[in-house]
Order: sequence, then structure tokens, then C-alpha cells
Amino acid sequence: MQEVDIQALDPVRLMELIGPVRAQEFETAAVAARRLLDGRRVVNVNSTATGGGVAELLQTLLAYARGGGVDARWHVIDGTPAFFDITKRIHNHLYGVPGDGGPLGPAEHAAYEEALRPNADEMLSVVAPGDIVLLHDPQTAGLAARLREEGARVVWRCHVGCDESNEHTARGWEFLRPYLDDVEAFVFTRREFAPDWIDPALVHVITPSLDPFAAKNQALSPEEVRGILVYTGLVADGGREEPSTVFTRRDGSRGRVDRRVDVLQTGPPPPDDAPLLVQVSRWDRMKDMPGVMRAFADHVDRSHGAHLTLMGPSVHGVADDPEGGPVLDECVELWRSFPEAVRNRIHLACVPMHDPDEVAIITNALQRHAAVVAQKSLAEGFGLTVLEAMWKHRPVVASRVGGITDQIVDRRHGLLIDDPTDLEAFGAAVGSLLADPVLAARLGAAAYERAHAEFLGDRHLERYAALFLALE
Ligand code: UDP
Repeated sequence: MQEVDIQALDPVRLMELIGPVRAQEFETAAVAARRLLDGRRVVNVNSTATGGGVAELLQTLLAYARGGGVDARWHVIDGTPAFFDITKRIHNHLYGVPGDGGPLGPAEHAAYEEALRPNADEMLSVVAPGDIVLLHDPQTAGLAARLREEGARVVWRCHVGCDESNEHTARGWEFLRPYLDDVEAFVFTRREFAPDWIDPALVHVITPSLDPFAAKNQALSPEEVRGILVYTGLVADGGREEPSTVFTRRDGSRGRVDRRVDVLQTGPPPPDDAPLLVQVSRWDRMKDMPGVMRAFADHVDRSHGAHLTLMGPSVHGVADDPEGGPVLDECVELWRSFPEAVRNRIHLACVPMHDPDEVAIITNALQRHAAVVAQKSLAEGFGLTVLEAMWKHRPVVASRVGGITDQIVDRRHGLLIDDPTDLEAFGAAVGSLLADPVLAARLGAAAYERAHAEFLGDRHLERYAALFLALE
């Protein structure tokens, strides 16, 4: 088990953005939470420190919680490849699909419990009675009972889910249910994600948030965007001089992008004046990266001169995701099957994950450069990438699934595709934005307003404060 270092950030810096009324609401909630916790720790446990939305939101939230005087901690469990195969299977089931189709029987329960045992042993040396432990996602659910025995207050936050239950969600929940008996409160991104056997009184709905000042979201000038994208090989330099790649890290220090991104492409990177369609996602089947490629190749009019960049983490970078390698391989195979003229306009990029701030600034630059941001997920817990694009005034084309529908009202803050497998509709929506910059700008502006009103850290922390009050 690894403890992730959390740099405290003073929530005061959010205040200038949210105005006096929200700042007062936030301060009231923060005072109540501090008084209630009275020095007790809030220990978060998940299964990866980098890659994916949960790691992203823990980075942000815990930094502000610490800056606000809460003793927030973050631990990452260790697991074997067999353990992560099982937990990925459960994850897929909760999204309503069978994943690798493997079993979830007594042998899997035994392997799951065995892998968690040493993690629980370590946790017990970190957690004192009365501490609040927030367990994130299926990987950590099996820690609940031992932590409760030791007097911790245990909350389980599930970031995944499916609006409609089916045989697969039922199987996934059947696996997890015995581990959740001791949990005192549950957090879901949407109420629809909670199975009906959980007492509704114990369910809290909390949506994620983003940090406007983090490297992922901080403002960048067009020159800075260009500098980072040219240096990393994500856009062509157009014969101009390479500008600086200096940026501000999460802790306020200066960083410099000095790694290239590994890009699979036949020709040069996209010209910097070509409209770019971008999807940033882990290489996960539910993100449907191949579907984005097919829709782009077959249904986005070539006359726009657009290129597509799909960007994901380097597949060794996300410890708890065994699907990454095979899904990337499928994408590469599909890409190779396209005629050269199509391949020339599609770029598959893998970012090395060694330095989270560097990954973040590269992702930030790519999202800002995008003419259109796609999130063509087949299912989605929340979809932080959508929020990140909205914050950057980008027009988004996304599937009408899961938490995406809480972020975007169709045609007001972006475009939603009713059927996530409808490639033609997806391609037509992208084409309509490429053809109509006024519409694209209007949706992007409304998207920013929505992100600002609903999805900054003050809202998120206030909902946690309410949860802690409810636990008492
Ligand atoms: N991400 C990134 N670089 C990548 C792929 C993903 O920085 O190459 C980040 C992305 O910006 C977002 C998070 O990983 O912050 C993905 O969160 P989301 O909720 O969209 O999906 P999840 O991975 O949790 O299913």
C-alpha cells in the first residue's frame, strides 16, 4: 500500500471565482466540518494514484480539504494482476456489460479477499477509531468490515454505474453485496446507480468537480498551447520557432514539459490550423475509442479538413486497468485497416504517466486546441473529461449516458447522441459543429457557465460536509 502525498491548497483561491455568496456558503460548511471532525482523519483509499477520473478528483479535493484544515489522507492499495482482472470484471458488470466474460464465483471471492487482506492489515496501522474512511470503487469494498471492527466510520463511494439494471449489473452487485454490510453511508454519482437493496436513507449523491487552477485546467495562452503541442509532437510546428513549454505546477512551482508523447501516425502531426476532434480517455472499452475512429472516418465530411486525435495514458501507467493494452491494440489494428488518406488524419497518442502535472498540462493544451471534444462513451459514471472540456469553452459531442447527462443539456451546453452506438448521428453532430463556428462558440460559452455554476470544488466539498454531518 502506498500513501500519496497531498499538497495543501488554500480554498481561498477558489473564492475569487465563486463570488461572496457561494464563498459564504462554503465557509459555513467548512467550519461545521472542521468542528465535527475535531482532528479525526479522513482517509481515502483507492487503487491507482494516476490515470482516470478518481485519481484526478482525489488530487484536487484532498488538497483543498487539507488547505481547509481537514486531516485528509490518501492511500492506494496493492493488488495482483489476478485481483485487478477480477475488479475490472466487476467494474464492467456495474456498467452493464460482461467485460472479459469470466466468472465471479467462490474462487474469485477467495482471490479478491486474499489480495485485500495485507492491505487491510496495513490500513489498520494507519486508521484510528473514529476516523472516517472513504473507500472508493469495487477494488476497496472488501476492506470495509475490518475497518469497522476497528472503530472506523466507513463510507463507500462508487464512481461507476448504469442507469438501467440488467443481468450483468445484478451479477456485479451480487459479488459486492456481502462486503458492503458494514458500510454506514454510500456515495453515488447518480441516484440511479444505487442498487435497490441499499437503504435510500444511506445514499448520498455527490458529483465530481474540477480544480480551475490545476495544471489540467489552468488558463493557457494560444502560444502556450501551441508550444506544448508542438514540443510533444501533437501538432505540426508549421515551420515556426518552438516556443516555451513552461507551466505552473499544482503546488505553484514552475514546471517544463520535457517528454514527447508517443504518437502513432503515418505522416506529420495535424497542422496547427486544421480543426481537431479530440477524445481523451483511458483505453477502456466503455470509452469506445474505435467507435470514434469509425465515426470520424465514415461520417465526418472530409471537406472540413479535420483531423482526429485520440489520447490515452501509456498502457503501463494505470496500475488497476488490465484492459488498457488489449484495447489500445484493437485501436491500432483498426487504424491500420483504414486507407492511407484516412490514416493520415487520425493520430493515436499515448502519454507517459510519470509526472501527473506534465500529463495534465499536455491534456489541457490538447483540450484547449480542440475544435470539438468527443466523449463517445457507451456508459459513463460521470465523465470528468466532459467537464474539463466545458471549462475550456469547448463544444462537446457526447453520448447521452450516465453522468454526462447531468453535465450537458442537449443543444444548450453541447450535443448529446441518444444512441451511443449510432456512428452516423455522432459524425453528423461533429460535422454540424465544424461547419458552424457560431453554434460551436455558443455551446462552448454555455458549457463554461454550467461548469462554473455546478461543478467547482466548493460544491463538492459542501456535499462531503453534509455527508459527515449525516454520519454523526
Ligand atoms: N486523462 C488524462 N490523460 C489521458 C487520459 C485521461 O489526463 O491520457 C484524465 C482525464 O483528463 C480525466 C481523467 O483522466 O481527468 C478521466 O476521467 P473520466 O471521469 O473522464 O473517466 P474515467 O477514466 O474515470 O473512467
